[in-house]
Amino acid sequence: MSESRASRAAGLTMARHIDHMRHGLSHVATRDYHPPSAVGNLRWTEDLLLSTYEQAATGRPPLSGREYRVGRSGGGFDKIHFLFPRGTRSPDASNLEPDLSLILNRRETGPDIRMPLPVYGGGFSFGSVGINVMLARAMAARHLGSFTSTGEGGYPTPLRAYEESVITQIATGLFGVHEENLICAPILEIKYAQGAKPGLGGHLLGNKVTADVAGMRGSVPWVSLFSPFPFHSVYSVEDHRKHVDWLRTVNPRAAISVKVSTPTDVDMVAVGIYHAGAHIIHLDGGYGGTGAAPEIAKKNIAMPIEYAIPKVHRTLIEEGIRDEVVLMVSGGIRTAFDVAKAIAMGADGCVIGSSELVAMGCTQCKNCETGRGCPFGLTTTDPELIRLIDPEWGAERIVNMYSSWQIQWREILRRLEVPSIAALRGRTDLLCHEDFERE
Ligand code: SF4
Repeated sequence: MSESRASRAAGLTMARHIDHMRHGLSHVATRDYHPPSAVGNLRWTEDLLLSTYEQAATGRPPLSGREYRVGRSGGGFDKIHFLFPRGTRSPDASNLEPDLSLILNRRETGPDIRMPLPVYGGGFSFGSVGINVMLARAMAARHLGSFTSTGEGGYPTPLRAYEESVITQIATGLFGVHEENLICAPILEIKYAQGAKPGLGGHLLGNKVTADVAGMRGSVPWVSLFSPFPFHSVYSVEDHRKHVDWLRTVNPRAAISVKVSTPTDVDMVAVGIYHAGAHIIHLDGGYGGTGAAPEIAKKNIAMPIEYAIPKVHRTLIEEGIRDEVVLMVSGGIRTAFDVAKAIAMGADGCVIGSSELVAMGCTQCKNCETGRGCPFGLTTTDPELIRLIDPEWGAERIVNMYSSWQIQWREILRRLEVPSIAALRGRTDLLCHEDFERE
């Protein structure tokens, strides 16, 4: 993956452009004044975007002094902080080499799956993104010993080369779901809803439904596609159990993950998912998704993930089943610090989407569904635009971002004197909320 190839990429060019604009504004920057952002928004601030680009280029936490841990949303993870002990660190803590690995099946039966890091990639369907983005994510997942999800648009043949790292998603539209795609997967993911637009199903506008996308989904080119909400065959825990049984019969080697959004009774939903036989409960809160999800839905329907995690964690403990099921969470988790906070709230690990796109140059411009799609070759199926992403280059950017995150997780654990990421789970005593800090 040569530097010349990297410098061809539109994302990096944009990063430099933004950098110049930012420095051009530095003469008006003071401690209390934030110059207007050239790009981004209050959640994905200009600093977070640029610092993620930097991590994706270097594989290390940024040296530029930019904020890389939180945004400026005024809520959520941006107001929650770790209570790091003050004073000199003990020699034991300094020498700590924390274990970041995560076991993905805690039941007595089923596959033995462990990842060396507590995150894997969430679903972006073939159609919402092009094949080069999918390949970049799959290559990165294989390199990291992690996973990436197909999303709901089927399983393009080139992904087969990475099948040990690819999760097959079964969503409500059943687009591209075939037995051969189920048999090859290490994890099967049933998607009931997504936090960015719960209750709205999925939609792919006609201008992204190329002949290839339509072929994969068994539909007609240039006609918009809508996935219903919910599965019309599932209206109870018993129905859900039949779904899980179906998948376990087709592929007994696979772990079963069940992805749901975060309604107010999400804790009871989680208990039902466990009793139906799933290995992984995947909660998807609001604020995730690409620019294809309506803003009004992202911000107003699902419960923010930082509320859902402790609620589900506590209920699973009360039910005596917490250590038999894995809790993965997603929905607006942007940084290594967000991941660590989610785990301290009670998650086992996180599912990452947008940050991987940002590592490949996403500017959060929200044009994912406009015209030919993403101008940087990310959320597009346009044959010319998809070529802007070289899969090897993209994979290197994602691997670098996670390398930097691993450095940060180890440092967080050392500072907290916690020996492993697993031991951080549920340690809310190590967190504080800005609004209650004084109390
Ligand atoms: S179009 Fe979508 S994926 Fe592309 S840069 Fe904008 S927000 Fe990111």
